[in-house]
Amino acid sequence: VARRRVLALPNVKLVRGRAEGLAVGPGRQVAGVTLADGEAGDDATRVIAADLVVDASGRGSAAPGWLERAGFEAPAETRVNGFGGYASRLLRVPDDAWPGDMRYMATLPTPGNTKGAILYPQDNGLHVLSLFGQSRDYPPGDEEGFDAFLKGCSTPLIHQVVSRSEPVSEIRTSRSTGNRWRHFEKLGEIPGGFVVLGDAAAAFNPMAGQGISTACVAAVTLGETLTDVDGDLNCLPGAFQVRLADRMTFPWQTAVGFDLRFPEPEGERPEPTPEAAKMAGYMANLAQLATVDYGAAEAILLSTQTFDRSPLREPGLVARVEAWVASGRRPPHADPTRPPALLPG
Ligand SMILES: Cc1cc2nc3c(=O)[nH]c(=O)nc-3n(C[C@H](O)[C@H](O)[C@H](O)COP(=O)(O)OP(=O)(O)OC[C@H]3O[C@@H](n4cnc5c(N)ncnc54)[C@H](O)[C@@H]3O)c2cc1C
Repeated sequence: VARRRVLALPNVKLVRGRAEGLAVGPGRQVAGVTLADGEAGDDATRVIAADLVVDASGRGSAAPGWLERAGFEAPAETRVNGFGGYASRLLRVPDDAWPGDMRYMATLPTPGNTKGAILYPQDNGLHVLSLFGQSRDYPPGDEEGFDAFLKGCSTPLIHQVVSRSEPVSEIRTSRSTGNRWRHFEKLGEIPGGFVVLGDAAAAFNPMAGQGISTACVAAVTLGETLTDVDGDLNCLPGAFQVRLADRMTFPWQTAVGFDLRFPEPEGERPEPTPEAAKMAGYMANLAQLATVDYGAAEAILLSTQTFDRSPLREPGLVARVEAWVASGRRPPHADPTRPPALLPG
């Protein structure tokens, strides 16, 4: 009955307001959320009664404080900060501004050049231009500084396309890029019916574009876990947070691995395991192969966005990587002024 009640969502009602705490019942399970500045516009704090509370309130989540105030322990945190910054704006890019058939371009910061940029399509015909810098090389929000930063990237190609395009928004900046994992999965006790997901649980340096995908994976994982615990909301948090932590390991390693390549990131610097070192060697060779092999490039993108390593280990691909290494080949060119030419894999 409980399962049907939860999964069928019989009485969905949308309430506007800022959640500011957990209401916990005598059996130490959630009874709802306390809400400040509710939709009626008054200052009164109200309680929304609920059997299941999902904290999806992003990087600013106050869940650790909510748990402590309700008599539970706060989770431990792992933090790694590479001090990245963003400056972004929307552009209208004419079709003839692109070199050849490219419609997406990205150049990542490297330890040798901490400036990066990405130009990618939105589904409304506009493009997003994001500049990102590592190690406190923050891209500026003024026109002149923005342009100079883009010119300083490793490839001039993005600047060329942008100079033929029309800006259609202001420049917006952000420095919310530190990696932070709150280990709800290690808590001895979580109130029944309380789960935490998305950036509220684990937030990453957005450089690898994993945040939206991880939030989606978490939502799917929550649905699967609800079914597996047969709607038992007291069992749900423990089972869900452990399963979520397992799914977050891949994006965490990707984001943190990126930051740790730069000097002086703040936070924990784990020694790579032999397995991780072997995987890093394989990925370096795969990245070289991806400069000529479309299938290799697609496998990297797919695994980065779905957090599933199996496309990287597909036997045909592994054989092509081995053949690439054995042949002693190198990427056909490292000239940043020329677009890469991928061949079908
Ligand atoms: C500069 C930058 C660039 C990024 N680029 C990418 C990218 O290219 N690709 C990608 O996948 N990800 C990117 N991300 C990451 C991505 O935005 C986040 O990972 C994702 O939005 C997290 O989703 P979420 O639902 O967990 O939290 P959010 O999207 O932050 O949503 C949280 C919501 O909760 C609300 N809220 C907060 N507190 C309360 C409260 N107390 N009560 C009620 N409501 C509350 C907020 O108003 C907000 O609407 C980027 C992030 C940044 C900062």
